[in-house]
Amino acid sequence: MKSCLVDLECTYCGRRYSADRPIRTCPECGKVLYPRYDLDAARRSLDRSSLAGRPPNMWRYFEVMPVRDESNVVTLGEGFTPLFRADRLGRELGVANLFIKDEGVNPTASFKARGLSAAVSKAKELGIARLAMPSAGNAGGALAAYAARAGLEAHVFMPKDAPEANRVEVAAAGANLTLVDGLISDAGAISRERAAQHGLFDVSTLQEPYRVEGKKTMGYELAEQMGWTLPDAIIYPTGGGTGIVGFWKAFEELEQLGWTDGKRPRLYSAQAENCAPIVRAFHDGAEFAEPWRNARTIAAGMRVPSAIGDYLMLRALRESNGGAVTVTDEEILRWVPKVTALEGIFVCPEGAATAAALTKLLEANEVSPSERVILLNTGSGLKYLDALT
Ligand SMILES: *Cc1c(COP(=O)(O)O)cnc(C)c1O
Ligand SMILES: [Zn+2]
Repeated sequence: MKSCLVDLECTYCGRRYSADRPIRTCPECGKVLYPRYDLDAARRSLDRSSLAGRPPNMWRYFEVMPVRDESNVVTLGEGFTPLFRADRLGRELGVANLFIKDEGVNPTASFKARGLSAAVSKAKELGIARLAMPSAGNAGGALAAYAARAGLEAHVFMPKDAPEANRVEVAAAGANLTLVDGLISDAGAISRERAAQHGLFDVSTLQEPYRVEGKKTMGYELAEQMGWTLPDAIIYPTGGGTGIVGFWKAFEELEQLGWTDGKRPRLYSAQAENCAPIVRAFHDGAEFAEPWRNARTIAAGMRVPSAIGDYLMLRALRESNGGAVTVTDEEILRWVPKVTALEGIFVCPEGAATAAALTKLLEANEVSPSERVILLNTGSGLKYLDALT
């Protein structure tokens, strides 16, 4: 297999950069860089039907992945997660064609495995040996695991109220863990400072170009699992935003590959009532989101008061004709056991938030009962025992 990676493009000013040197954000404007591919070459060398014989993980889409040499791939079998029909939950909600994509079965029990498998693989390829990252929880666990597998050094900065499972898994994988008295944004400031002092490479969400490439494979998988058609609506629990923007990047690429027709799903962002910067900016018609003050929610993955990819999320929500809704912690806690008891999938609070959000979208007639709707369960409930018991 051969990657068709060409270079990096700034998503804001359009400048291009080499993808063969370490780089984080755009040196000119400070915004997010995306890997770009020769999709015509990818179309010629990869036929959709030949995917069937490839390994059931996200690297099956190697032509549109950013690692040039296959031997640099650091994998624990991430991706190609099941897409389940959720008929019992669908009946409860009044939706005829409801599906759950279960990211809880990924290595390290969350979809963060995808992003960190991609970022750590590329870091290895570029000869970067020491990585740093602030994390609300699951990203830190995934970085620690993939860095361990690659034999790289990892430094994780986590709010001290991060779920216990995350603190334990980071330490178990031998990463350097610093607990911070504050939010993910405070952990980010310390991570950046230490990175600058000690020559660590900071792999924060969307502050390096490759994590999003792991996340985008959720979009490729959805298309493949649905027979190269796409659903009508996707509801996504939103924090730093790589999930939402990854889906949107995948749909753009799939269209250019000629693998799907022009109809893209509407994307909906679910955020917590007390941490909803993207929902607020979406309804205000803003290009960027103001940082949220006093961010609070039991869903640690959604406890992100400001994100560098805000404009990308807002663009994706608007271009897709989607939307953004908030849910309360009470609703989240009510929907965890409800979804789990109806479908047998022990969902995380963030996953439960998408079910709560769907009830609101149905009430507001933003989603109609006959549409094909996807809920993302981004992690396993097993990582949140402290919040759920
Ligand atoms: C990180 C995380 C999220 C938020 O995802 P983004 O793509 O960063 O917006 C949602 N759910 C879980 C379980 C997470 O770990
Ligand atoms: Zn730029």
